[in-house]
Amino acid sequence: MAKVLRLNPDRLFPANEQTRAIARRLYQSVAKLPILSPHGHTDPSWFAENQPFGNPAELLITPDHYVFRMLYSQGVALEDLGIPTQDGTPVETDSRKIWQIFAEHYYLFRGTPSRMWLDHVFTDVFGLDVVLDGETAEHYYNHIDAALKTEAFRPRALFERFNIELIATTESPLNDLRHHKAIVESGWKGRVITAFRPDNVLDPDFEGFHSNVAYLGELTAENTSVYTGYLNALRKRRAFFKSMGATSTDHGHPTACTSNLSDEEAEALFNKVMADDFSAAEAETFRGQMLTEMAAMSIEDGLVMQIHPGAFRNHNQQLFERWGRDKGADIPSQTEYVRALKPLLDKFGNNPNLNIILFTLDETNYSRELAPLAGHYPSLKLGPSWWFHDSPEGMRRFRQQVTETAGFYNTVGFNDDTRAFLSIPARHDVARRMDCSFLAELVIDHRIEEDEAFELAADLAYNFAKKAYKL
Ligand SMILES: [Zn+2]
Repeated sequence: MAKVLRLNPDRLFPANEQTRAIARRLYQSVAKLPILSPHGHTDPSWFAENQPFGNPAELLITPDHYVFRMLYSQGVALEDLGIPTQDGTPVETDSRKIWQIFAEHYYLFRGTPSRMWLDHVFTDVFGLDVVLDGETAEHYYNHIDAALKTEAFRPRALFERFNIELIATTESPLNDLRHHKAIVESGWKGRVITAFRPDNVLDPDFEGFHSNVAYLGELTAENTSVYTGYLNALRKRRAFFKSMGATSTDHGHPTACTSNLSDEEAEALFNKVMADDFSAAEAETFRGQMLTEMAAMSIEDGLVMQIHPGAFRNHNQQLFERWGRDKGADIPSQTEYVRALKPLLDKFGNNPNLNIILFTLDETNYSRELAPLAGHYPSLKLGPSWWFHDSPEGMRRFRQQVTETAGFYNTVGFNDDTRAFLSIPARHDVARRMDCSFLAELVIDHRIEEDEAFELAADLAYNFAKKAYKL
């Protein structure tokens, strides 16, 4: 007999009855607010072309590195999950077989946020009512596959059903944004904007850096082999992204390092980088200098700057060689902010026109570094618990360690930061429940009044993101 799948309406609320009652009331007031998704990685072609999503495996397994990293850690081969290789060696193509393997291993996700998100997708998005396992795998596959073939499951219809007010994708400066253009020209009212993610032209260690910089020059008719031409080209692409709706930039450097070199020093370092004659330390200084240059340009053009440091990318060398980037082998590393950000803050930290949102994968610096920094500098705010910490406990730790120093008003609401489009309502729902639970605890302790908690619940679910990202 298949087990019944049902989401408990009180999930994630505090166990204490009185606190739970407050959390419930707060949640009821924000549960139906529109979704603002100011940072994420959905594919704009979905909304531009509005073609049906592929089969269940292609939609829910092969693009989701949260899912296959767990299966891989338990001995399931990526080949068997149909993850395409870069060297062209064959992988499983039978999506029913891939789905069956996933279903048989679904128990591995017990206690993880992926399990909560997926169960939410299965029940709320697809209307399934039995637990996924090896026995129910075929029923799931048939049910989801049939749904995906209907009009109601096309990308735009889901966008509307999910009550998404706005979603931001993330593109490199080398992208022509054709899908964003097509969305605007189509007359569809869904708002899909881009964000400017220039790592591939700012980081000398990025694969293809030299050809990327050369192409940046072609796109902008600037000579990017000289420093002023390179900076002009970046300025022009930012202006183009802004004209296509971008309100933010995003920077995923290995560390939070910034630099404050003179123009002459910066130019000399740029020349070394372009001549491929640089040390690891010089590459770090160059990335740091470019963050400071990006801050200068943000002050000019008003784009909000997001800094997402601390991921050790592609940690598994053999896997990287065969499968490439974003295959679940990115691992957080220790990250320092106080000294790293000082050069940038020395120059621009008090500028009222600069808006920087800081993220971390290293939770040890929430109360030691990030909350004190954001609780002082007018240019700094804290992004929500991110990636490995986008989880109920991660959100609780974030609020507990940050609020007393930075307050709520130096934070920016929730980001889903996902490529798994169907999980977006589930992720925002978890964030709203956890924030309401945290607020309920403050009310029951008489640290804030209930009317203040209602105001904050709406701010955390909606208003802060709108303001911080200028949406
Ligand atoms: Zn991201």
